Amino acid sequence: MNMKIDPWSALNIDDYSKLFDEFGILPFDEMVREIENPHKFMNRKIIFGHRSYDLITDAMKHNKPFSVMSGFMPSGKIHLGHKMVMEEIIWHQQQGGDAFVGIADREAHSVRGMSWDKCKDIGINEYIISLIALGFEPDGHIYFQSKSEQVKDLAFELGSKANFSELSAIYGFTGETNVAHMLSAVTQSADILHPQLEEYGGPKPTVIPVGADQDPHIRLTRGLGHKMNMFKIEGREDKNGNKYFSIRSKAAPEEALKELNERIPGKTKLFEGHVDIFNADDFELLLKTVREVELEFGGYAFVPPSSTYHRFMSGLQGGKMSSSVPDSYLSLTEDPKGAAKKVKRAKTGGRMTLEEQKKLGGEPDKCSVYEMFLFHLVDDDEELAQIYTECREGSRVCGNCKALAAERTEKFLKEHQELREVAKDRLDEYGLSI
Ligand code: SF4
Repeated sequence: MNMKIDPWSALNIDDYSKLFDEFGILPFDEMVREIENPHKFMNRKIIFGHRSYDLITDAMKHNKPFSVMSGFMPSGKIHLGHKMVMEEIIWHQQQGGDAFVGIADREAHSVRGMSWDKCKDIGINEYIISLIALGFEPDGHIYFQSKSEQVKDLAFELGSKANFSELSAIYGFTGETNVAHMLSAVTQSADILHPQLEEYGGPKPTVIPVGADQDPHIRLTRGLGHKMNMFKIEGREDKNGNKYFSIRSKAAPEEALKELNERIPGKTKLFEGHVDIFNADDFELLLKTVREVELEFGGYAFVPPSSTYHRFMSGLQGGKMSSSVPDSYLSLTEDPKGAAKKVKRAKTGGRMTLEEQKKLGGEPDKCSVYEMFLFHLVDDDEELAQIYTECREGSRVCGNCKALAAERTEKFLKEHQELREVAKDRLDEYGLSI
């Protein structure tokens, strides 16, 4: 099956396992064991997949530098889906990651036709204020794409490595697609790679927490990162079966290859366009040396970005959440009492009658109220397991269950909105103003 994911359309990905086979996203299950205090989304299989997350677990375990980065298009209300990404960014920041949040105003301007003023207004008043209220620390970086010279310059450079066929294969661009829309695709790649620029400490693993629909950006960026790099390390085998590494480059200056040949310890041989290494037993050291030489000769030495993929909540009425159906989603800025009422009207996995419910049990896996507990309203795993079991056993009644979810929703929104008021006065700590 040929599955195209378009991050600009709210496509419902109903079978996540296809992503493993089709796009090479790896299951997250095994990663969880490597993490000391996993985020609840990790334990609960809400984050279900990743690319190269082993680089991040290694950095967290051994106190090595790493970054976390994600972006938000300022096009509407901040909702629970955005909250998920923000929580993932903040969790990585708490684990020692240098955190970056980009407001994708170039994307909103080119794809949605939003004015720059509107982008700024929504970017700050909806997204950034909630990000700070949720716990983003001022040592992280919050920026607007249109105001970041580093991102814009890098986007231009990346543009020289991306061609139209590649972009249209990933995003389905056609002859009608405007150039700014294409530029916004490479700008997002620049968002993802710029934490590795010299001014932010140079090459390092960077994780991008996203919904599965954003994977095209990740694939494009990983490809562009490779293309920008001066050197490529290949594992090879000679005709006698002896293994060796070959560092290859089409674009590196001759002096850079010579320098590599001199600096790499052990038996090496310099050829035109490549250096072969016959006894490298420390791959990390080899990689480090290659990156150092590349940086000295003006290259980027990007580490291909890692990513995590979370699944989406369904709408409160079942089906998809949609900004055009207010009853299907909750915004972090809406009236807490009104939000509680929405939760009380939500579609449950309950049976037609109380009698049936007691006899057959409910279906929490089909219940949007249970999803609210799972994603947002219950931190304690034991409490969540109890809700699940009681529902399945038929000892839980939907009315009471919805009342609990509504009460917690109202409490969360009330507290969050109070924290937002405090956050408004702290914008200058983040180099921002309204
Ligand atoms: Fe959903 Fe609760 Fe009803 Fe179970 S009892 S179906 S979790 S609302």
